[in-house]
Amino acid sequence: MFSTMQDVPLTIGRMVRHGTRLHASSEVVTWMGTEGRRETFGQTGRKAAQLAHALRDLGVTGDQRVGTLMWNNAEHLHAYLAVPAMGAVLHTLNLRLFPDQLTYVTNHAADHVVIVDASVAPLLARVLPQLNTIKHIVVANGPKAAVEAPDGIEVHSYEELLDGRPEEYNWPEVDERQAAAMCYTSGTTGNPKGVVYSHRSIYLHSMQVCMSDSMNLATTDKSLIIVPMFHAMSWGLPYASMMVGASMVMPDRFLQPEPLAAIMATERPTFAGAVPTIWQGLLAHLDAHPQDISSLRDVVVGGSACPPSLMRAFNDRYGVHITHAWGMTETSPLGSVSRPPTGLTPEQEWEYRFTQGRPPASVECRLVDDADEEVPWDGVSVGELECRGPWVAAAYYRQAEDGDSDSDEKFRDGWLRTGDVGAFSPDGFLKLTDRSKDVIKSGGEWISSVELENQVMGHPAVAEAAVIGIPDPKWDERPLVAVVLREGKDVRPAELREFLASKVARWQVPENFTYIDEVPKTSVGKFDKKRIRAAYAEGKLD
Ligand code: ADP
Repeated sequence: MFSTMQDVPLTIGRMVRHGTRLHASSEVVTWMGTEGRRETFGQTGRKAAQLAHALRDLGVTGDQRVGTLMWNNAEHLHAYLAVPAMGAVLHTLNLRLFPDQLTYVTNHAADHVVIVDASVAPLLARVLPQLNTIKHIVVANGPKAAVEAPDGIEVHSYEELLDGRPEEYNWPEVDERQAAAMCYTSGTTGNPKGVVYSHRSIYLHSMQVCMSDSMNLATTDKSLIIVPMFHAMSWGLPYASMMVGASMVMPDRFLQPEPLAAIMATERPTFAGAVPTIWQGLLAHLDAHPQDISSLRDVVVGGSACPPSLMRAFNDRYGVHITHAWGMTETSPLGSVSRPPTGLTPEQEWEYRFTQGRPPASVECRLVDDADEEVPWDGVSVGELECRGPWVAAAYYRQAEDGDSDSDEKFRDGWLRTGDVGAFSPDGFLKLTDRSKDVIKSGGEWISSVELENQVMGHPAVAEAAVIGIPDPKWDERPLVAVVLREGKDVRPAELREFLASKVARWQVPENFTYIDEVPKTSVGKFDKKRIRAAYAEGKLD
């Protein structure tokens, strides 16, 4: 027997209609360097409608792809709303990709139009001759002369293109399973992999983001959206904020600690989300130049393991609560959030907060060992994490057509194999030890590079630390710790070893240390261990 309920597609068009009308006075603030330029959700809705009309005129129909090469700002939000709501597909391009990767993903997705921020136009110009599907380039926040295009590609100014167009658009009713947006992830091997989100997956994910044990976004919030809109859909924050009418603060290209602290002091956000390296930098800056960031009721940190020392420092020195979360581009990205249960002592509560947290009701998880057997949830048994759920990818874009057998490995029996290794407690809290490719295999035992990093970063003289495995004739591999010292501080290996001796098993205490100026970061701000390994292989680390 079927239900008697209405069958209403969960679409971005529905979300846009709701958010821009019922929350018309909520604001989008784009940071300009010293102050924010502001627009209301009502204006955002009208701009999105104008953009949709303009894109139709440029020949965007059906499920064509519209790329964005943009910072987090109001114009990027217009595209986030307009492109899927009109029935086309938003493709967020990572502006920190190497040119050949940018070329690959733009051609692979077959983008018809690219909306580009004038400040990154030179990057687009460099790859333009290799892009074979682009017909139009729309330049936002600067003159269209910023891009010189070859024959066959028209360049438009964003402002001129929208000017005078109708401020309403009859957002079509699309099938909720249709593609709404896509985002490429680095992938463990080979070329970047495209994850294609549906209207339904984005809608359900946005509702989850707002749930109280999740990011708990509400009308009364003002969210500072630091995580780039080209990285895993900015963790769903723009759509979730639109859904509940939470005002948004967009940092544009001002992502360094100093402007971020200024944004926090001026705009007084209640919520923020970013990867740990952003918060590490901000902490060092705030310690040297105190600012009032007390407006933050919660900060969600994920994308890499959040060091416990960072969580405690923000708590103790600034009264700011950090919530640890785990996810992947393939999981939209919300996979788990750490909200401890009640009835705990403060120390027990910390232990829960340090974990990657519990998956929400819609995300199912299991751990699988090398023999493909499921591992019990006893808090100690370790396995590879696998997930499934309505906002978890079932395949990569064009995987079958590309004959990409590496990707076939990633999905099996309806489960996504995450490549992350860890344990679940009996009450469902996930504690990740490492990515499987980063685990250090020493004398037949495993050493968690993340655990060592977290411990080393707990030393007061250490700003950052990244750990890789290096070949060892006796033990196969041993850890090498690349240490970045805090300004004006010093600590030598002998003292670090002594510091670690009481914190990790004796055989795990590293013998090898090297000092570097900065840990290299990936295009989304995570520790880039591939580059540290390469530097070691080339003898560039002593
Ligand atoms: P990329 O592979 O390019 O970094 P993603 O942003 O999709 O792309 O990264 C997802 C991966 O990030 C996860 O598989 C996991 O290894 C790591 N990750 C995300 N959140 C956490 C976390 N809280 N703790 C540890 N690792 C995390």
